[in-house]
Amino acid sequence: MSILEIRDLHATVETPEGTKEILKGVDLTIRSGETHAIMGPNGSGKSTLAYSIAGHPKYEITSGTVTLDGEDVLAMSVDERARAGLFLAMQYPVEVPGVTVSNFLRTAKTAIDGEAPALRTWVKDVRGAMDNLKMDPVFAERNVNEGFSGGEKKRHEILQMELLKPSMAILDETDSGLDVDALRVVSEGVNRAKDTTDVGVMLITHYTRILNYIKPDFVHVFVNGQVAEQGGPELAERLEAEGYERFLTGAK
Ligand code: ADP
Ligand code: MG
Ligand code: MG
Repeated sequence: MSILEIRDLHATVETPEGTKEILKGVDLTIRSGETHAIMGPNGSGKSTLAYSIAGHPKYEITSGTVTLDGEDVLAMSVDERARAGLFLAMQYPVEVPGVTVSNFLRTAKTAIDGEAPALRTWVKDVRGAMDNLKMDPVFAERNVNEGFSGGEKKRHEILQMELLKPSMAILDETDSGLDVDALRVVSEGVNRAKDTTDVGVMLITHYTRILNYIKPDFVHVFVNGQVAEQGGPELAERLEAEGYERFLTGAK
């Protein structure tokens, strides 16, 4: 049983116009086995929240706390966050020249577990996970993110999640740039992780579409750097019908 607690989180970013506060007091609690959809208009700070938890150097946490099972996440290095059980899909968005998917996954698994996985089972696990995600085995020998299509990037993210078995996964716009078939395959991967492990999921999305495939237990409407409203799955249906306008105008 794990618990991720975000309390009154404030974060700023440097822009050409000066320091800008993006997160303005975020409160959120995610427990093992729960899926929380974070939904909000473009520019509301959803990715900033993900990057802040990931420890991206561009974002400065000015106040508030993030803890995983009581441990101070913000004091951890990026590697320590991964070892603590946090999976941040956007953690490795860049090309890693000369490192194959296969080596990358094995290195990440070794770093997180503290020992190299047994080769025989590992090869089988990787093949099985790639097969589940309908990925060509050749993909394992490609260099990380080099020339990946949008869909390949997302599959690679979910492949990492399936193999690294985190206790908390933060998935930012996992649905963006996916056609319906790819969306289904990727969603099935997330659901498999949910079914076979007790992972808690923060699913950040602008659109309600992915929630047809991944059922959230809780929905949070994220506006102007804060959670403006929380509810159950019915809140997503309401957003689908009404959009975000009533939150932006302040009318309820
Ligand atoms: P969302 O993911 O909800 O669309 P973001 O977190 O990407 O929102 O962005 C929130 C706001 O912060 C936007 O106004 C965006 O322009 C600004 N912002 C985010 N990251 C940076 C950055 N690295 N430099 C400058 N502005 C940024
Ligand atoms: Mg975003
Ligand atoms: Mg479960």
